[in-house]
Amino acid sequence: MRVTASSPSPAIAVVSLLGLAASVLAHPQATRTSEAEEAAISNPTTECQSYDYPPVTQAMSSFPKIWEYAATILPGDAAGHAKYASFNTSIPKIAPKGILTDSTKGTNYPATDPDCWWTYSNCLTPKLSGLVPDVADVPEPRTLGYGFDDGPYCGHNVWYDYLSSQNQKATMFYIGSNVMDYPLEAQRAITDGHEICAHTWSHNYMTATSNEGAFAELWYSIQAIKLVTGVTPTCWRPPYGDVDDRIRYIAGQLGLQTTVWKYDTEDGTEGSDGVTAADVTKNYDDFITKASQGAFNTVGAILLTHELTNFTMQTAMDYHPKLMQVFDHIVPIAVAQNKTTPYLETNYTMPTFAEYIAGTTQTNGTTAVSSAPAQSNSGSPTSSGSDPATSSGSPSPGSSGEQNQHVNGAGHVKGSVSGPLSAVGAAVLALLWL
Ligand SMILES: [Zn+2]
Repeated sequence: MRVTASSPSPAIAVVSLLGLAASVLAHPQATRTSEAEEAAISNPTTECQSYDYPPVTQAMSSFPKIWEYAATILPGDAAGHAKYASFNTSIPKIAPKGILTDSTKGTNYPATDPDCWWTYSNCLTPKLSGLVPDVADVPEPRTLGYGFDDGPYCGHNVWYDYLSSQNQKATMFYIGSNVMDYPLEAQRAITDGHEICAHTWSHNYMTATSNEGAFAELWYSIQAIKLVTGVTPTCWRPPYGDVDDRIRYIAGQLGLQTTVWKYDTEDGTEGSDGVTAADVTKNYDDFITKASQGAFNTVGAILLTHELTNFTMQTAMDYHPKLMQVFDHIVPIAVAQNKTTPYLETNYTMPTFAEYIAGTTQTNGTTAVSSAPAQSNSGSPTSSGSDPATSSGSPSPGSSGEQNQHVNGAGHVKGSVSGPLSAVGAAVLALLWL
């Protein structure tokens, strides 16, 4: 076994939560009603104050509890139940492993790696036929597929401002619960032209989930992204890279390509599990040395980095110029794959690799952001009757009732402000993360 999960100290967690809650309560509620207003906030503390976004608030009853394991499909979610019923009898008969917070715990697993369990062996090519191999690098030589996990982080504007200043797009692996907590931050990724992939609902070890739980973790994360940004991802990254053929099958049924990595900065565990800031910079430096020595002259790389803390984002900013020196190109993973329609909504396109490196980095198309209040208690997160995606259980392009909006257009959705719960959730996340 190679991977172990770190457990945060309960005492530290409590102190941090109390401190953050006090901080939130001491500040007046932040006001922001649009993505543009959110993106204009320059102070991370202000930016991290929670706020209310009506389309999310009104859809909450159609989602699992934020930051709780999505163990089941919600009773009223007809689309979710129908989708799951369409394939659940064909799910590979592979037992869940370990516990939600550590799939390796107590797991007695054969050395032959029958399940192609990445956590055990870094296996990328499924043992079962019919499954697509994981993506762990990019086909374009001397190219970095630039991706960041665990967003949207509540205070990410400094980081996204930097990316904009460099005309640099990236792939953002968003957690469904974070998207619900920070919808205007999630919208900024689309506005800025980044690619969004899913990173589950609650960031548990996926090979530890039940079949229905694995489905729900993926289903509600992509529903959250669809609700907030208007696009439906076709890619996901398993938290901790914890995937096997059972999970690959379920993800595949939802149209999700599994993307992992071969190089890890360990930035997400800095400050815990014995990982220091110096370790992280050494990991970056070692990776850069490999690149400078020609390690990626045939096939490009994917490096694990995070949009998780001020440290991870500052380090990413510090190293972006250094990465630019050793890679010919730094592009979103979809761009490196020439995957020009990265979402089920095919009216939204990203540039080809050739277009991107020639300077055309912008996205094209429209997204159907929820700018009218969604109806609640109708059994589906976006079930205002306008969204064939959720009604069919298999999201599909645009729909007549949705308000289309240019990706780079101004003026998103109205909202108002309330409650410290989201900020507390962010504190829990910051303490727990890989
Ligand atoms: Zn993660």
